[in-house]
Amino acid sequence: MTDPGQPGSAGRPGGEVSRPVTEPSSAPADHRYDVVVVGGGVIGLACAWDLAGRGMTVAVVDPEPGRGASWAAAGMLAPVSEVHHGEEPLLALALASARRWPAFAAELEAAVGRSIGYRTTGTLVVAADDGDRAWARELFEFQRDLGLGVQWLTGRRARQLEPAVAPGVRAGIWAPGDHQVDNRLLVGALLDAATAAGAVVHRARAEALECSAGVVSGIGLAGGTTLLAGAVVLAAGTWSAQLAGLPAGVVPAVRPVKGQILRLLPCDRAPTLTRTVRGIVRGASVYVVPREDRTVVVGATMEERGFDTAVTAGAVYELLRDAHRVVPGITEMTLGEASAGLRPGSPDNAPIVGRAAGEGVEGLVVATGHYRQGILLAPLTSAAVGAIVSGQEPPDELAPFGPGRFASVSGRAGA
Ligand SMILES: Cc1cc2nc3c(=O)[nH]c(=O)nc-3n(C[C@H](O)[C@H](O)[C@H](O)COP(=O)(O)OP(=O)(O)OC[C@H]3O[C@@H](n4cnc5c(N)ncnc54)[C@H](O)[C@@H]3O)c2cc1C
Repeated sequence: MTDPGQPGSAGRPGGEVSRPVTEPSSAPADHRYDVVVVGGGVIGLACAWDLAGRGMTVAVVDPEPGRGASWAAAGMLAPVSEVHHGEEPLLALALASARRWPAFAAELEAAVGRSIGYRTTGTLVVAADDGDRAWARELFEFQRDLGLGVQWLTGRRARQLEPAVAPGVRAGIWAPGDHQVDNRLLVGALLDAATAAGAVVHRARAEALECSAGVVSGIGLAGGTTLLAGAVVLAAGTWSAQLAGLPAGVVPAVRPVKGQILRLLPCDRAPTLTRTVRGIVRGASVYVVPREDRTVVVGATMEERGFDTAVTAGAVYELLRDAHRVVPGITEMTLGEASAGLRPGSPDNAPIVGRAAGEGVEGLVVATGHYRQGILLAPLTSAAVGAIVSGQEPPDELAPFGPGRFASVSGRAGA
């Protein structure tokens, strides 16, 4: 899939963002596309799949597609148990994307002919001690008042629902609408679906946005190649602020938020978990996510440490300690992997999706800042980006999350 030299000239889309490709004489014909997507994480790949499905010629630029935060993630599709005070607009967006998930998963599985591990088994939140019970009750009342279809459980009832949960848990919240997907199967499937739909993957680093007369004209790659395009989608996750050539007011306000996470491998003595269990343990959150293949994902830390992705002994200890507190049997499992990823965080914890705000970059669409929920938000984001590049209006739910809301933020926020 590396630079296969597929021509990219046909089917130029109409609309506000897409423009005719400028064509310097030095540009080879096989490096012209309607759209170049910078970044091949879940967001960039979902956008590429959508755009290619609309008949556009699409290139994805990424040295390691699918290996950023999207690889590290747990794959929870959890608008209900992830809800936070003050983030009600984000909740509406998350719920809207969650509603798209069943059709998105079915379409993707049909496109690639294999499972992406989409599971609708719900999420059980449990409180480890009496203090945690008070936290859980407050969360439950907030969720209930928002009409999120949750149910309060005694500790005993929580254990009946999920017998692998610790005998001592004090209470639970049952959130049947919070689902999960195997994020690694997902990004592999998106890569295959996008390329099957005609997208070309350039395994290279994008160095700079190129513009001509105030309109984007393409992307310069490390090594000197230029990909010409009438539209560019900036979807490089937490690295989105590092692309050269972005005017100061256009640089997305994203920063890395480190998350360390564990993958435990099945064994004979592993507990049988049928649904995601989220623990509140001494006020902190831990989650235990069982996959179809009986792997269990345990996560995750939230750390402001810049671009550091070191795995620390302390994080592994704390994750296992807290997960063991709510699902004791997990310490019987084999530790398969400890890794870290960088969530693309924005100043208000919400994504940044829409036409770039600022002069001189007509044709640039931003799709980043998905922070804790990029897997969940991929269907809605990709539909929005596809609509924008096609000159249509994106779904209403995304209106509050355009790049313009941070117009006063300048400088390289994530560099
Ligand atoms: C530990 C952890 C757990 C998480 N759990 C969940 C969860 O349960 N549910 C959920 O919805 N979300 C979860 N998230 C958040 C989610 O993973 C992210 O929001 C999402 O993956 C962001 O996707 P992305 O495509 O924007 O970024 P990424 O997946 O980081 O992709 C960005 C891509 O851009 C590429 N890139 C960078 N620079 C360049 C360049 N100059 N040129 C070309 N390519 C470039 C990178 O190689 C990378 O592939 C979790 C995140 C972490 C870290």
